[in-house]
Amino acid sequence: MAVRTSVSNTRGGTLYMAKSILDGTEWTATEFAGLLPEEQRVTRQELACLSCDGRAVFRAGQQRQPSFAARHRQDCRLVSRPWSAFRFLAEAGRGA
Ligand SMILES: [Zn+2]
Repeated sequence: MAVRTSVSNTRGGTLYMAKSILDGTEWTATEFAGLLPEEQRVTRQELACLSCDGRAVFRAGQQRQPSFAARHRQDCRLVSRPWSAFRFLAEAGRGA
């Protein structure tokens, strides 16, 4: 087994994409936030990280950018090597 030197916290990582366990649909947090409430209610219980299949939940609020929070596995690629595009979006969303 390959050993990574990453020391990233692998628990509770924030994601801006997740997939549905039910049908494999890939959602961005912004797209998911635009679903009808009943669609969100069904799908949000069946979300997972795109990379490691760790369970994910949707988070949204009036004050914050929509996002997903996932419990990643230790070898998750999205945790050990953050996607620069998503990091850019996250920072842009905070309005610095
Ligand atoms: Zn993951």
